[in-house]
Amino acid sequence: MKSIVILFGKPGAGKGTRLEELLKARPDLAEKFEVLSVGNMLREARRQQTELGKKAASYMDSGTLVPDEIINGIVIEGITSSEKSFFLDGFPRTVEQAKAVLDVFPDFLVEFFVEDDVVIQRARDRRICPTCSTTYTTNNFKPPKQEGICDKCGAQLIQRPDDDPDVVKNRLKVYEEQTEPVLDVLIDAGIPAYTIDNTNSETARQEFFALFD
Ligand code: AMP
Repeated sequence: MKSIVILFGKPGAGKGTRLEELLKARPDLAEKFEVLSVGNMLREARRQQTELGKKAASYMDSGTLVPDEIINGIVIEGITSSEKSFFLDGFPRTVEQAKAVLDVFPDFLVEFFVEDDVVIQRARDRRICPTCSTTYTTNNFKPPKQEGICDKCGAQLIQRPDDDPDVVKNRLKVYEEQTEPVLDVLIDAGIPAYTIDNTNSETARQEFFALFD
C-alpha cells in the first residue's frame, strides 16, 4: 500500500537528519519510500539553471517561500505519478499547500519541535555539498572526514546562503506566520499527528523510529 508521511517543523529542526538515520537503519523503508525534499529539489533546479531554479532563486535567498502556484503542481504531480510511498520533507508549508496535500491522502504527520535558538545555532554550524546536497556540521555531530570536503563526491562544502543568521530569523518568522497554521488544517482534516522534541537527538531518534515498528 502506498503511504504518504509528512515531516513537519521549523526550518533546521532536523527533519532531514532524522529521516536519513531512519532510512539507513531500515532498508525496507528505504526500498518502499521516496524522499521528496522540496528544498533539495529547488537547490538542484538552481544548480541546473532550469526555469524552476531561476524562478525560485530570489525567494530562497531571502528566506521566503516560493509561491504555491509554482510548488503545488510539481509536488502533487511527483507524488501521483509514482507507485512509491513518500516522505514529504518541507511540504506542505502553507495552508494552500496543506489543502493540496489532502488530495493525496497523507497517512500521518510527524512534527519535530526545537526552540528558535537551537535552529539558529544549527544553521550556523551546518555545511552542505553543492554537488550532492549531503549535509555536515562544523561541530562534532556530523563532521566530514576531511574538513570542508564532501565525503561522497570530494566537492568543497559551502554554507547555504539562507543559513545566514539574519535569513534564518526571517525563515522562522515565515514559519510562524505561514507554516504553523498548516498543523491545524491537517489535524482538523483528521490526519494523525505526532510531536517529537528534537532537541535531544538520541531520544528523538528512538521516538521517531518507534513510529515505524
Ligand atoms: P529547506 O531546504 O526545506 O529549508 O528549503 C529551502 C528554501 O526552499 C525555503 O526557504 C523556501 O524558499 C524554499 N521551499 C522549500 N520548501 C518549500 C515549500 N513547500 N513551499 C515554498 N517554498 C519552499
